[in-house]
Amino acid sequence: MAAGGIRMTAIASLFQEAARRAAGFRQATPARHMPTHDYAASLACFEEPLPAAGSDMLDVIRRLSDGAEPGLHATTGPRFFGWVIGGSHPVGVAADFLTSAWGQNAGNHAAAPAAAAVETVAARWLFDLLKLPAESSVGFVTGATVANFTCLAAARGEVLRQVGWDADAKGLFGAPEITVLIGDDAHTTVFSALQFLGLGHDRVLRLPTDAMGRIDPAALAGTLDTVSGPVIAVLQAGQINTGAFDDFAAIIPPLKAKGAWVHVDGAFGLWAQASARTSHLSRGIEAADSWATDGHKWLQTPYDCGYAIVRNELAHRRAMTIAASYLPLAGEGERDPSHYVPELSRRARGFATWAMLKHLGRDGIAALIDQCCASARLVADLLSQQPGIAILNEVTLNQLVIRFGADLPSEEGDALTRKTIEKIQADGIIFAGGAKWRGRDVLRLSVTNFQTTSDEAQLAAQSIIAAFKSVSRG
Ligand SMILES: *Cc1c(COP(=O)(O)O)cnc(C)c1O
Repeated sequence: MAAGGIRMTAIASLFQEAARRAAGFRQATPARHMPTHDYAASLACFEEPLPAAGSDMLDVIRRLSDGAEPGLHATTGPRFFGWVIGGSHPVGVAADFLTSAWGQNAGNHAAAPAAAAVETVAARWLFDLLKLPAESSVGFVTGATVANFTCLAAARGEVLRQVGWDADAKGLFGAPEITVLIGDDAHTTVFSALQFLGLGHDRVLRLPTDAMGRIDPAALAGTLDTVSGPVIAVLQAGQINTGAFDDFAAIIPPLKAKGAWVHVDGAFGLWAQASARTSHLSRGIEAADSWATDGHKWLQTPYDCGYAIVRNELAHRRAMTIAASYLPLAGEGERDPSHYVPELSRRARGFATWAMLKHLGRDGIAALIDQCCASARLVADLLSQQPGIAILNEVTLNQLVIRFGADLPSEEGDALTRKTIEKIQADGIIFAGGAKWRGRDVLRLSVTNFQTTSDEAQLAAQSIIAAFKSVSRG
């Protein structure tokens, strides 16, 4: 196929075909739960040498969707409870179609004025919704992993600057040592961020946590007494298994008194701020210095959407600014998208964020958070009425930690839990996966989809109970 000279009618048919296929997938999703193709079968669909000759545009898109669909999880469906995965809401998807069609490079104002403007507005809306300081800045990044990285880069630069060291220019060679405090049940990606930043994933002071994974405030106070020099503390809103929050109101003030930079990983938990029913869980969180969160979890944007939010805008810019003679500088007081993220060229992530915030509004987002939490509680209530099934966490948010054979010795309970999970997955009415919590096998459920109503939650509980009974009998 020669490049160039594509007829407008051909483009329209191509886009229509992609949209038709996308809608067809969504229609089929509520009924399908496990992919029929695993990795090997998917690979077999695509494995061939690099084609010398090209293919027709429409054929390529049909070939892609035919080959991929059997290997797709129903992550967008109402009964997908695996990992912590948002629903990729149709409005966000449509905004992302346009984003790709427009082909904007959201690096700077000159290259993409509308993309930059929409990020400015969406950033303001995020502060308002998440009740964070209005003077903060936001980097629109790929997800919470890179948001943690970006925020911690700002933290590293600032705590060293305060002791007279310019880490952005000189690196860490010969720099004063930074003490990094982190809870024992922090998410693994925070440790990766520390690794990328030269702070080391093992060279940290791990603070003991309670049964739900919350940092023990007394242990923190004891540790703070022994620490001097620059300090970065990493707290958490929404533990990946239990959904628990550190006690921000109790632990941020002593950290700030010590001059620490306080970062919060709130990949999904920061959204508790958006509902009056859950905001007590994150009380005191606004006193932190930086917050990492995801759009592609609770806000339901399509993937590739996270936010690095930093109170000290200058520290954020210093850590991320890319300066080159051919790159225009934003005007005074203007926000250039690339000043707050590691990348220069990137997709215009602000469009999908703006579309979801505009579509749901403050009330719609609060209702979404409440519905997910209510559905999680309903599943917990129904399961805990069943002898032999135990809910191991306090269900305050959207996460459930479930144990089968709760009355059995540990090893037998582990085996029964694993068998029940296999049966649940084979039945295919829901999808959820196993995890380890406090050394034991558990089933973990995350209710993070806009379509998970109480009816869907009841169906989920029934399918879990049926699988457990069938495995226990066998
Ligand atoms: C999902 C998650 C992350 C990582 O976010 P990505 O969007 O996968 O990059 C970090 N921390 C917590 C608590 C999470 O739930």
